[in-house]
Amino acid sequence: MLALEMFRSVPKTVLGKAAGGRVPMLLTGVAAPLRLVTIPPPKVERPGWVRLRVLLSGICGSDLGMLSGKTSLYFSAVVSLPFVPGHEVVAELLEDCDDLPAGTRVVVDPVLTCAARGVDPCPACERGETNRCSRITVGDISAGLQTGFCHDTGGGWSQQLVAHRSQLHPVPHGYADEQALLIEPVACAVHTALRAGVSAGDRVLVSGAGAVGLLATLALRELTDAGEILVVAKHARQRELALEFGATEVVAPKETLRRIRRATGAFQLEPEFSAPYLLGGVDVAIDAVGSSQSLETCLHATRAGGRVVLSGMPAKADLSAAWFRELEVVGTYASAHGEEAFAKATGLVGHDAVARLAKGVATYPLHRWREALDHAHSAGRLGTVKVAFDPRRNQ
Ligand SMILES: [Zn+2]
Repeated sequence: MLALEMFRSVPKTVLGKAAGGRVPMLLTGVAAPLRLVTIPPPKVERPGWVRLRVLLSGICGSDLGMLSGKTSLYFSAVVSLPFVPGHEVVAELLEDCDDLPAGTRVVVDPVLTCAARGVDPCPACERGETNRCSRITVGDISAGLQTGFCHDTGGGWSQQLVAHRSQLHPVPHGYADEQALLIEPVACAVHTALRAGVSAGDRVLVSGAGAVGLLATLALRELTDAGEILVVAKHARQRELALEFGATEVVAPKETLRRIRRATGAFQLEPEFSAPYLLGGVDVAIDAVGSSQSLETCLHATRAGGRVVLSGMPAKADLSAAWFRELEVVGTYASAHGEEAFAKATGLVGHDAVARLAKGVATYPLHRWREALDHAHSAGRLGTVKVAFDPRRNQ
């Protein structure tokens, strides 16, 4: 089968450049750690595992981080090289799997938990908090926090992969493949909205209006009693979409603190040689980008005792505000309580705004991977929210 394979660790090739003061670039040239290969389809001959034919597989911000060397070396211990990336997957079963007949169209919950690994459930898995599983390096398959980072399972950026029954959620009839592709990212957004711990009427800041920020905005609006939701967006199309997805108001990055200061009566301070910050501010801020700048905006715009949610894969930041303002900084990774989260996400994906968004998903055949990744890298500027591989396509 055809597959894109991540075959070497990016930091080796990129760290030298980054240390030289250059910002890491997306690697699609000769130094790319990714290549198109013909390899045998993956196989895991254990109970509950099934072969899937990929219909669509999305490109996520975390994939781009990995391909640009921005991802922390912290994660190198929870992947197994070489692997086929792609953890946002819509696929169909090539054979029966327990209650699901061959041909069933599914989305994959990518987290490779105790159930998939054939080991006794860890305390987190026992509670249904599968995204907190502590056995992601042991059991029947090689290390890998998710499908798309594990050597043995394959991933979505290929014609076939294998997945465990516990990872599979059937897609309702009437949903286009592009719409189904958004179920997994929406399940993550559902989890983010819950982790935000919003109380009725809370003022919420969402920093970033790419897929993560837009879907978090939707989940906050639909599943919580948030009051004002202020979304930070860079590009015109993102501003329109944020309003469709439930934002009360959209601001440019540079306007953010001033806008929050006006709305909340906070004081703005201008320290010497450092970024301005507020005394007072929003109740909850969600970093949906993962850049230092976006995280700093969240830390600096949240009132004392408020909550900052790390939804994008985070970069380094000055944590002074977290200490001084006693902020609760919480992470949100993947989704928990699979059945429940995916059922909620499947419902939200039926929302008109998401169905319209799905029509704008840009798809590429595997061999045009350089174009696809460049497109995903510039998606915001180009007015695209999601770019995906369609391995069925030849052109
Ligand atoms: Zn576990």
